[in-house]
Amino acid sequence: MYKIVVTRRIPGIEQAAEHLPPDWDLWINPSEYPLTREELISHAKDGDGMLVCNDRIDDELMAALPRLKALSNYGVGVDNIDLEAAKKRGIIVTNLPDEVTYSTAELAFALMLACMRRLNEADQLVRSANPFSWTPTIVIGRNLRGKTLGIIGFGRIGQKVAEMAKAFEMKIIYYSRSRKPEVEQRLSAEYRSLQDLLQAADVVSLHVPGGEQTRHLIGAGQLKLMKREAILINVARGTVVDETALAGALINKQIAAAGLDVYEQEPFVTEQLLKLPNAVLTPHIGCSTWETRFAMTAKAIQNVYDVLASRY
Ligand code: NAP
Repeated sequence: MYKIVVTRRIPGIEQAAEHLPPDWDLWINPSEYPLTREELISHAKDGDGMLVCNDRIDDELMAALPRLKALSNYGVGVDNIDLEAAKKRGIIVTNLPDEVTYSTAELAFALMLACMRRLNEADQLVRSANPFSWTPTIVIGRNLRGKTLGIIGFGRIGQKVAEMAKAFEMKIIYYSRSRKPEVEQRLSAEYRSLQDLLQAADVVSLHVPGGEQTRHLIGAGQLKLMKREAILINVARGTVVDETALAGALINKQIAAAGLDVYEQEPFVTEQLLKLPNAVLTPHIGCSTWETRFAMTAKAIQNVYDVLASRY
């Protein structure tokens, strides 16, 4: 018999939990909001498995949870967890590499379209003047068709974005840690250095993981390389972009627009961005569809079960 702690109420948790052995103990935070560190420790101190949602899991916390053997992360990015410390303590960390891919790629397109077709401004115009005055250049935007999409980080989500981009008749270039010749062929994508990509792309879309290695991959120097009419999309991690430099580039019209789902000091957002009509901002909703949330919950529970059941 094992005890599993779920750190937030997540969609479909009761249905998913039905697949656990009846004698396993399950504690689910009744709230969608995070537990304090003290609350988390008090509920999980005798826990064998934990399903975590954005909670920061460091060595000190793990030390307070001596029975913990399975950490099931409710997402693909594991930059919230000290992986070295988990390894040292024999805790197996699992994530959701496949469940989140489609929805996150889809949101990248939602943001691209919102930036190119100026949906923020269009919505605001309709609300602010009834009736509105139509003119041939009212909220005039640009098409995705024929534009060059520069994908930075060509893993699962980056490649799904490339697949979707074909339907929009975009040209695809990419930069990643390693070249991927078979994928290049399948998706008609060309490899470029980071500098070349930034200079050539009309849309730059970020899909690298967070963490120290990718911190400020896009800073003032990189933004300067981009075209004036280019847009930047970030559905990866806020730390990948120097947000102050980005706000400056948007204010100075050094680039045309940005679509952001993640923030450097999340959940805080650089104040200047909030006032800019050419910044489309969403609150980390890459995976926030019912279909994806239910699939994530089922797989996250399955992951914690698999780790603990293998210990019988
Ligand atoms: P993935 O399959 O691991 O792809 C990441 C790609 O980034 C890989 O192709 C990797 O290159 C490349 N890469 C890693 N470090 C790099 C570096 N320093 N420079 C250049 N390229 C680098 O991960 P994924 O499933 O596509 O997810 C990507 C990230 O999206 C996640 O880590 C997560 O942070 C974020 N995400 C956000 C949301 C949201 O709600 N907004 C939802 C899901 C995921 P190689 O292939 O050569 O190793």
